[in-house]
Order: sequence, then C-alpha cells, then structure tokens
Amino acid sequence: MRTEIATLGEFGLIKHLTEGIKLENESSKYGVGDDAAVLSYPADKQVLVTTDLLMEGVHFDLTYTPLKHLGYKAAVVNFSDIYAMNGTPKQITVSLALSKRFSVEDMDEFYAGLRLACQQYKVDIVGGDTTSSLTGFAISITCIGESDKDKVVYRNGAKDTDLICVSGDLGAAYMGLQLLEREKAVFKGEQDAQPDFSGKEYLLERQLKPEARKDIIEKLATANIVPTSMMDISDGLSSELLHICTQSKAGCRVYEEHIPIDYQTAVMAEEFNMNLTTCAMNGGEDYELLFTVPIADHEKISEMEGVRLIGHITKPELGCALITRDGQEFELKAQGWNPLQENK
Ligand SMILES: [Mg+2]
Repeated sequence: MRTEIATLGEFGLIKHLTEGIKLENESSKYGVGDDAAVLSYPADKQVLVTTDLLMEGVHFDLTYTPLKHLGYKAAVVNFSDIYAMNGTPKQITVSLALSKRFSVEDMDEFYAGLRLACQQYKVDIVGGDTTSSLTGFAISITCIGESDKDKVVYRNGAKDTDLICVSGDLGAAYMGLQLLEREKAVFKGEQDAQPDFSGKEYLLERQLKPEARKDIIEKLATANIVPTSMMDISDGLSSELLHICTQSKAGCRVYEEHIPIDYQTAVMAEEFNMNLTTCAMNGGEDYELLFTVPIADHEKISEMEGVRLIGHITKPELGCALITRDGQEFELKAQGWNPLQENK
C-alpha cells in the first residue's frame, strides 16, 4: 500500500501524523494546532533548548536504517543532549523535508518510532513543519527541557584532581555501523546474499536504536552528586574529553585499561583488524555520558552501577593524554566523527 503525500497535502499530513497526541507534561500548555505551541515553566527551573539537523546520505543511510528506528534515534539523540546538561527533556518540535520518494506510510513508520521514543522518555510533541525537498529526507528536531536552577551542568566546570567517569560502554555503535556498511557492500555485489548478523545484535542495536542515559541522571540525583562538568558522547570520547578540557582550561589523564568496552565490540574489531582502543576512543554515536566529579565523591561514584572511572583531570600545562596498558603516554587528538571533514 502506498499513499502519495500529495493526496493529503501538507496540512493533511501534519494532522494525520499528530492525530491522538496527548500532552503529558505540566509545562506543555498547548501543542500542535495553532501558530505556536505554548509552554510554561516554573520560576525555579532553567529552560534548556537543543537542536539537531540530520540529512539523508550524510547522517543516515536508508538502505539499512528502518524508518521507525530512524524516528526513534532522531528523538533520542536530542534527549541525550538535554540529559547531558543534567536536565530532563519535556517537549520536541519536528520538522521534515521529503522528496516524492516518500509515502504517507513511510512517514507513519517514522512517526511511530518518534512517538515511541517520546512515550518512553515522557516527552510531548508540540509542533513542527513539513515541506518538500528535491531529493532525499531531512529531519530537524528541537528539544526543550528543564533543570533545577542550581543543577545545570556545563562543559567548563572540571577542576584539577576531579575524577573522569563514563557510563555504559564505548565503540559498539561505531562497530555496528562498520558491520552494516560491510553487509551493504556484500549485498550490492551478490543479489542473493543474506546479511549475517547473528551474535552481533548488540552492535546493531547500539547503532540503530540508541538510548539516552536518563537512568544515570536519576542515579546521580539520588546519590546527591552534581557533576562538575558533563557532556554526551556523540563524536567519540577523545573529542569530547578535549571539549571538556579546553572549556574547563584543564588537562587530563585517561587510562586505556579502564575504558569500558563490550565483548562483541572487541570481537568485531578483531574481525575487522581494527585497533580496539582507537574504535572506543574515536567511534561516534555512543550517546553515553562523560562527566567529572570531585574526588570527594570517589566512594559514591565507584559504587554506582553502569559508571566507570577512567581517569582524572590535571592542571592545563600537563595536556590531555591517554596512558596505554604498557604505561606509554599518547596525546589525545580529536579524530571524532565529523561529516564536514569527510571527502564524500
Ligand atoms: Mg552533546
């Protein structure tokens, strides 16, 4: 079944996609249906706003990304940025540009993923726009969230001797992407080739259906820990560490042996003949949290499940370095995933 978008028209499409949306949050006063949404935040809150633009062929590849997964991921990566400020996401607006290749059913799939993510993270869809594009699919999502006035965490607060922590594990989303790209190449060569993903489900999930670390933000609040700096890992650990250190005017030491890596990531790196630490340090799209805490929180943070201590902040003149298993020091470089630097 394929319904052309033209049969509904722009307003018809928006109405169709946003049908039945109920606003769940106190701060969402009015959503889709007027010239603007109306939000109301209490005076003791700080309002956070983040936005993200995703282009087909640059940020995602529809030959192996189901539209429902894409909808889910497009929402979650924005929630992740709000959590990275120690906040809670509350509303999103969704703007889409579509070529004639896409049908109403395709957009139903995309919105099903988007709405599932919003339901799971308790976020309201309060507006958006759709328009036509000459070629491909473009997605722009803006997310609005809140934080207690004195609890917002920036990138610039890391201090000498603070402990550096990361949640979850690193490099899996990057290995998932490598795997999908390899199967795509195989598929192009042989018509009847079936992709072989058995035993690699975790890597695919990390690439196609990432989650934002709402749970870690809640655990930190329960433990009464306010990080001195924080950001989410979207471009790779090296690159994000350099952001924190530059903005905090500090240096750092991180230890190779403490970088959390899943078993499947290690197996896949071996299969691809790639350096595992390089994948974990520079692979993007993990959406884990990187944060620093005062050394006084050492005991509390080492007991926290799902969080690993990977190093410490130093004085700026010591620079930023990775200490390998055999004790060598390597200066950190930002080789993070940056589509603007790719020669495509
Ligand atoms: Mg971020």
